[in-house]
Amino acid sequence: MQNLQMVDLKRQYNKIKPEIDTAIQHVIDSTAFIGGSDVHHLAAELATYVGVKHVIPCANGTDALQIALMALGLQPGDEVITPSFTYIATVEVVALLRLTPVFVDVDPETFTMDIESVRKAITPKTKAIIPVHLYGQCADMEPLMALAAEHNIPLIEDNAQAIGGSYTFSDGRTVKTGSMGLISCTSFFPSKNLGCYGDGGAIFTNDDAMAERLKMIANHGQKVKYFHEMVGCNSRLDTIQAAVLRVKLRHLDEYCDARRAAADYYDRAFAGNPRITTPVRAANARHVFHQYTLKLNGVDRDTVQSELAARGIPSMIYYPVPSHKQEMLREYGTASNVLPVTDMLNKCVISLPIHTELSEEELSYITKNFLEITG
Ligand SMILES: *Cc1c(COP(=O)(O)O)cnc(C)c1O
Repeated sequence: MQNLQMVDLKRQYNKIKPEIDTAIQHVIDSTAFIGGSDVHHLAAELATYVGVKHVIPCANGTDALQIALMALGLQPGDEVITPSFTYIATVEVVALLRLTPVFVDVDPETFTMDIESVRKAITPKTKAIIPVHLYGQCADMEPLMALAAEHNIPLIEDNAQAIGGSYTFSDGRTVKTGSMGLISCTSFFPSKNLGCYGDGGAIFTNDDAMAERLKMIANHGQKVKYFHEMVGCNSRLDTIQAAVLRVKLRHLDEYCDARRAAADYYDRAFAGNPRITTPVRAANARHVFHQYTLKLNGVDRDTVQSELAARGIPSMIYYPVPSHKQEMLREYGTASNVLPVTDMLNKCVISLPIHTELSEEELSYITKNFLEITG
């Protein structure tokens, strides 16, 4: 089996090459490299797709989270609740703004924020909660939204891994991920479900006044050029990336379907194997499988990884060190936090290749070898 990759961007590009090349060339011909019309069109198209009123494109997903927190006008020492079991960016921006990260555990089945942990973590200083739709599965938003509303705490969805996914409320209403928080953030990093050809991100909100603030903060705190009302930053999505994203947004639903089909294949192949726990799909969320992450039971993960590698099969551990134990946060003393599910998952999860171009032959090769290796 040749050249198996966690994500195969080359094959995906080859399928849409004429559309992409035309879109990029169009930007070059216009020379409107910053703030060109593709950026505005993308914002409008994303707003329609996700079902929100305002979309503010920005430079990357980490900036999106930072700008979201800045827009809440928090004070140093205010507490922000996040899962520890996430990509570090979710947490890093909290510390960067001199806010205090408060870690909660995740559900051992869905890998998303455990609502009871959140309830226990809320204090009078809690000023934001950031649920993460990890690996492409929406956090359980309904009870979380109720809890946040009860305490009047804004929710910021970290939707970097789940754009295209959805969530169904108990009244039957289904909405897209990224449309439920006061603010939502996503990333267009190339390997994400909607990835561009460089860095990119976006911020989503239904709140008009908040949209205005977010826009200003992303643009040096100005509404009118050279009149700076507040300290902001410089965070733009460039026009070429917006043009690429407009093309890929038209394919996003089929990309999500392809990821789900690959996940179905893995699920079927591994079903009933006592050493492998396949990822649980919450009944009220449409999982879009940014990662296919399973749990190993009673097999040595390092050995599995090296034997896979020897057979040309890449695998990854997302993430090898939980956020609360990162050196970065030493001054917060979070390493002693008691997060048993996070610690357990960190030792047993493993992610297999998943992307939009996996062939039946590749899936068969990966599953056959994975089953052999895990015994
Ligand atoms: C990728 C990612 C981010 C950050 O996005 P960048 O565009 O790389 O800055 C934030 N949160 C999560 C959960 C992510 O997966």
